[in-house]
Amino acid sequence: MVAVAATGVTLVATAAPAAADGCYTWKSKLRKGSRGAAVTQLQIRVAGYPGYNSNLAIDGVYGDRTVAAVKRFQSAYGLASDGIAGTQTFNKIYALQDNDCTPIHFTYAEMNKCNSSWAGGQVSASKAKSNMLRLMWQLEALRHALGDRRLRVSSGFRSLACNPNESDSYSRHPYGQAADFIGTPSFCQIVRQARYHGFEEILGPGYPGHSDHAHVGNDTRKTWSSSQCF
Ligand SMILES: [Zn+2]
Repeated sequence: MVAVAATGVTLVATAAPAAADGCYTWKSKLRKGSRGAAVTQLQIRVAGYPGYNSNLAIDGVYGDRTVAAVKRFQSAYGLASDGIAGTQTFNKIYALQDNDCTPIHFTYAEMNKCNSSWAGGQVSASKAKSNMLRLMWQLEALRHALGDRRLRVSSGFRSLACNPNESDSYSRHPYGQAADFIGTPSFCQIVRQARYHGFEEILGPGYPGHSDHAHVGNDTRKTWSSSQCF
């Protein structure tokens, strides 16, 4: 679609997106040194590209680590890898997201089979849901890296009522910060690849209680991942 500028409007060097996106539309190019909510929105979408055994802070500051994450995102989708988020990068993100801001291959419903309110976990409902949005973008990156193969989610957010056996406080499921997978790709394929996509908690066969699924989670208090599946 061709954007038509109103008479008298000064066009900036950055071309505007071709069309408004149902979730979020960036208004201008972002680069190292940019700050604010637009950067935060970008960081959520590239959180799955921090590099090996690393993670990306969602802090609204476009620093070197965000530059590197944007470069990896661009490379993953065959775009020019300059670390600057402009029209091509934004258009790829628009193509990858649904109107509710979730990545196209994952839904809130499949990430929460306990309730539709996201209440009853270890954090507020809105926090659990926003935690999960970030995790889902990491999962989209993981899925893409595994050859765009479907990932079968057996469990995501779990309210405490939904999961009475989980009386401990360390599980990230009641925070909306974890997901379990069954089926294919194999658990070890998921575990090995997950180390590149910003999860601190990666558990698979060999870890107690994880012989029948793979688990990935976000917990920035930790700096480790599993010792399995090397
Ligand atoms: Zn789990």
